[in-house]
Amino acid sequence: MNPITILGLETSCDETAAAVVRGNPPGPGAILSNVIFSQTEAHAPYGGVVPEIASRAHLEILDGIVERALSDARISLKEIDAIAVTAGPGLIGGVMVGLTMAKGLSMGAGKPLVAVNHLAGHALTARLTHAVAFPYLLLLVSGGHCQLLAVRGAEDFRLYGSTLDDAAGEAFDKTAKMLGLPYPGGPEVEKLASNGNAKRYPLPRPMLARAGCDFSFSGLKTAMRQLIETPDINKADAAASFQAAVIDILKNRTGHAMARFRGDFPENENPTLVVAGGVAANQDIGDGLRALAGENGFALCVPAPALCTDNAAMIAWAGLERFAAGASDPVSTGPRARWPLDASAT
Ligand code: AMP
Ligand code: MG
Repeated sequence: MNPITILGLETSCDETAAAVVRGNPPGPGAILSNVIFSQTEAHAPYGGVVPEIASRAHLEILDGIVERALSDARISLKEIDAIAVTAGPGLIGGVMVGLTMAKGLSMGAGKPLVAVNHLAGHALTARLTHAVAFPYLLLLVSGGHCQLLAVRGAEDFRLYGSTLDDAAGEAFDKTAKMLGLPYPGGPEVEKLASNGNAKRYPLPRPMLARAGCDFSFSGLKTAMRQLIETPDINKADAAASFQAAVIDILKNRTGHAMARFRGDFPENENPTLVVAGGVAANQDIGDGLRALAGENGFALCVPAPALCTDNAAMIAWAGLERFAAGASDPVSTGPRARWPLDASAT
């Protein structure tokens, strides 16, 4: 089969990104370019992403980012097979900017449009990078999402569990804010925790006694707030204790999901756990999940940190998988603020 070449656009949160990816399922694919402009600085004063600022920033720079993605890849629009774009879920203003741009390019260049679910982008990155075969178990831990899913196909997901309140990355960001650390807080908490004693402060591990694969972080967040308000706490020890609690929660829930996956796919004797999303960049979390995978006979696949956080290469790849299966979408396709991967689970 001739390799497929896809231009991908991503604007669903605070990264404005465009990339060109070439290949065929099951991967791996070649990333010909991967341009990301992170708006972190614009949102930092507010301690979180401000939707209106985000969509305006996307609007201002997206065309330049697309041009750079094409020139970095030394390719013209004519040589692209299709244009993939995040159509949701995400901040609706940002999604609209990307989708409108993609439709314009699609009509102008006469190339098919492929609407991509942002979460499918995260979920399929392990195929772009490591050609992981279906089915596999996915732990998606990002700023906006915390889910465990069985990935059975490029558009076939079974939800095992998700967070009942905050996402894991959100818990990191809020903890960082309470500790007086800059946004985005995940990497800052990790840095601080590396000098701390994780056993110093006992913190709750919500849901651990319960069956199933759902997560909850709000009880931990409240306990952190109370801890931080006490006088003379050691911030490094508090950060380390927080991170240890998150690791225990992620390991426990993922352990349950592994058992369920084994039951659902008994023929898959050497299954893989894929970890995706920005929180996967955390070394200690990676080490904890590696140990868990080893104990349960799962291989572990964690794509490179730059491909774990929001980027357009993953959108191009998810679009490539859909396009290879014969799919494309009409220009009437609308943006979706909500778009679960497993529609049967909501
Ligand atoms: P994403 O939503 O996939 O773009 O990932 C961003 C989220 O990942 C934010 O909530 C970050 O705080 C979090 N994050 C990034 N790096 C780390 C890290 N090293 N440790 C924990 N969380 C992190
Ligand atoms: Mg992001």
